[in-house]
This record gives sequence, C-alpha cells and structure tokens, in this order.
Amino acid sequence: MKTSVNNLESLVKCPICNKKYGQTKILVLEEEENQTTLHLTCESCENSSLVFISSGKLGIVSLGMLTDLTREEVKGIFKSEAISSDQVIEVHRYLKDFKGGTSEFI
Ligand SMILES: [Zn+2]
Repeated sequence: MKTSVNNLESLVKCPICNKKYGQTKILVLEEEENQTTLHLTCESCENSSLVFISSGKLGIVSLGMLTDLTREEVKGIFKSEAISSDQVIEVHRYLKDFKGGTSEFI
C-alpha cells in the first residue's frame, strides 16, 4: 500500500495511552500494494506495537497488537522472513493471505 507515513499518522494511536505516535517513532517494516506493516514505539508510555494496515473494498482497516520486540529485533525478523510460531508472525501471515473485504475482516 503506497501511503506516506504522514497519512498513516492520523490512523495510528497507542493502544495503551491513546497518544498519537510521532513520525520518528514509526518504522515501516513492509509496504505492499494493499498492506503496510509498521512498528511503533510510544513516546509517552514507551510500549511498542505492530500495526497492520490493509486496504480493502470498503476502506482501510488497521489492526494493532502490542509487542515486546524492539525496532531492531522486528527488523531482523522481517528481513530474514523467518517463520516461527510467534503470534506476531502468525497474524502477519494471516493478513497477507486475507482477500476479503472489511466486513469479513471484522
Ligand atoms: Zn502509549
């Protein structure tokens, strides 16, 4: 999904304290035609989360999940495309293969 980080900023908020993420704290891990994967670190509560943003027939859907992985760790995982039983990877794979619209997604 070719969307600039500026546009994504309005979509992503910290799931813990609800603060919007600053641009410098957003790391784009993967960008595909209909999906963007981001790693975010909150400036105020310092929790990190992974956010998967997909665009479907009915618009843009974002799904966030907390992670213990640091930016560096998660970069390594995405770079090597390692497959593990880790939940983060499971969700990532699920969304990658997901072809339905927003209503099915929810
Ligand atoms: Zn926060």
